[in-house]
Amino acid sequence: QAKKAGRGCYRFFHPSMTRQADDHVILASSLREAIADRRLNLVYQPQVNVLTGRLHGVEALSRWTDPVLGTIPPGRFIPVAEETGQIRALGAWSLRVACEQMAEWIARGVAVPTVSVNLSAIQFQDPELVSQLATVLHQTNVPPERLIVELTETTMIENFEQTMTTAVAIRNLGIGLSMDDFGTGYSSLANLASLPINEVKIDRSFMKGFGSTGNVRQVVTAIIRIGHTLGMTVIAEGVEEAEQCIQLRAIGCDVIQGYYFAHPMDAESLDTWIRERRFQSALNP
Ligand code: C2E
Ligand code: MG
Ligand code: MG
Ligand code: MG
Repeated sequence: QAKKAGRGCYRFFHPSMTRQADDHVILASSLREAIADRRLNLVYQPQVNVLTGRLHGVEALSRWTDPVLGTIPPGRFIPVAEETGQIRALGAWSLRVACEQMAEWIARGVAVPTVSVNLSAIQFQDPELVSQLATVLHQTNVPPERLIVELTETTMIENFEQTMTTAVAIRNLGIGLSMDDFGTGYSSLANLASLPINEVKIDRSFMKGFGSTGNVRQVVTAIIRIGHTLGMTVIAEGVEEAEQCIQLRAIGCDVIQGYYFAHPMDAESLDTWIRERRFQSALNP
């Protein structure tokens, strides 16, 4: 309740501050505590190869449930972490936990081929990133090809030269590089083509109306073709329906990630999910 009083005082002395900015301050300080106390979690969402029905890999996603504020979605706390500089600590934490989890899967013979970790643009501009990646792989003993890092188009446009240098260094370590949320930003295809990216993820906004209008399907078909021309694996995000899955497979999409196959889940639930291999029967109903 000290927080509540503090918040009241703050508003008294700064009456012009919006409620939103006020919430932001509370969110930022609670997030700082959560990171320090290691109260964030990672969940993992399966990615399924639509030709073989096999597990292609998983994406690691951060989760935060605060004792006072409740569950806050990453769409809210990641921007706060970026604005306050906490993304460096959060990013280092998620990278480490994802690699430790992969090491455990490898040790127990659980068939998870790759784990993907989201990197914020700020992390990508960090000159320490490449050595940080190398260190985590070394310490956890995870082979580099089992790790994929995801960047977004925003990362590319902010500082292309720096992004290029970092991207090449990451690929030289043997780590996979994935372009997340493709089709939502302002990056040029030339940028996509010149970076050493080996996977492109079609943003989930394309899945809306994917079945109903031919236009969206043609755009997605074009992205798949471009991806394949550039030698990339193409993943569709946000696939929720069987019909979308069938159509995506028909137009050559390689991998599907979405609620249709599975929601993000904790490592233990993923174990069970893999054992039951529900995704195979889901693919061939
Ligand atoms: P993203 O990297 O594009 O991750 C995919 C998001 O789509 C996840 O949201 C996932 O839960 C959601 N999703 C997956 N399948 C479906 C579906 O079929 N339907 C719908 N409606 N949504 C689906 P989530 O977990 O809320 O994360 C949101 C974003 O927050 C992520 O988008 C990513 O950009 C960011 N994020 C999450 N964890 C981290 C992290 O550890 N570090 C950084 N830098 N960003 C993160
Ligand atoms: Mg992602
Ligand atoms: Mg995405
Ligand atoms: Mg994203």
